[in-house]
Amino acid sequence: MEAIRVENLEKRYGDKTALNGVSLQAPSGLITAILGPNGAGKTTLIRIITTLIFPDKGNVFLFGEDPFKEKKVFNRIGYVQELPNLPPFLSGRELLELSARLKSVPKEDVKRVLEMVGMTENANKKIAKYSKGMIQRIALAEAFLGNPEILIMDEPNVGTDPILNLRMRDILNEMVKNGTTIVMTSHELEEVKKLADKVFLIYRGKVFFEGTTEELILRFIGVRVILETD
Ligand code: ATP
Repeated sequence: MEAIRVENLEKRYGDKTALNGVSLQAPSGLITAILGPNGAGKTTLIRIITTLIFPDKGNVFLFGEDPFKEKKVFNRIGYVQELPNLPPFLSGRELLELSARLKSVPKEDVKRVLEMVGMTENANKKIAKYSKGMIQRIALAEAFLGNPEILIMDEPNVGTDPILNLRMRDILNEMVKNGTTIVMTSHELEEVKKLADKVFLIYRGKVFFEGTTEELILRFIGVRVILETD
């Protein structure tokens, strides 16, 4: 069964169309990427999937359930926002312990997720003192708490942290092995090539391509060859 299924999503902001009939599915146990340039509609799509905003039309299903009606389904999801804004007066560990309590996850899981993102040594420093890469790591660790069944990452920006960038595929594979389905957005083909199994390319609120990363690369090379020989 697909972990996520969206059907014909439409969303307008005033006279601006952000999504113009997007349908996609994220199969269980894979890493699916939503690739597209800035303004393609990726964040709007993620905000609808996580029910932060309503679509004008269309449906969302998480494990076959409509999250706008079945709020309980959210206990099964971890979400990393684009450019996370974390409370500066807490330490990374305090934030994770608070979050674990809110999610009813055992406190011991904080140690595990800190290790996963390589933040054990810096866990007691205040978030105000963290670099952008460290903030990203703690935001990821928070989403990893309790091994969610679906992990949704909006532009994880791992490129800003070279070590995390190198380890990200291993970290995500470890999550997949523990039963998590992963969906991420990105505007970088290189990042998607490295991290994802399946890709949806969206542009101006529509899906232009769906396939494996290999198929995407072949298609792009094909397009380039046609353009160059035209
Ligand atoms: P980025 O990578 O820059 O975040 P994106 O692919 O996530 O881009 P969205 O943020 O979903 O794209 O934006 C899709 C379109 O909708 C863009 O043209 C954007 O300007 C517009 N848009 C997004 N949010 C709003 C809003 N709150 N009000 C008006 N227009 C919006």
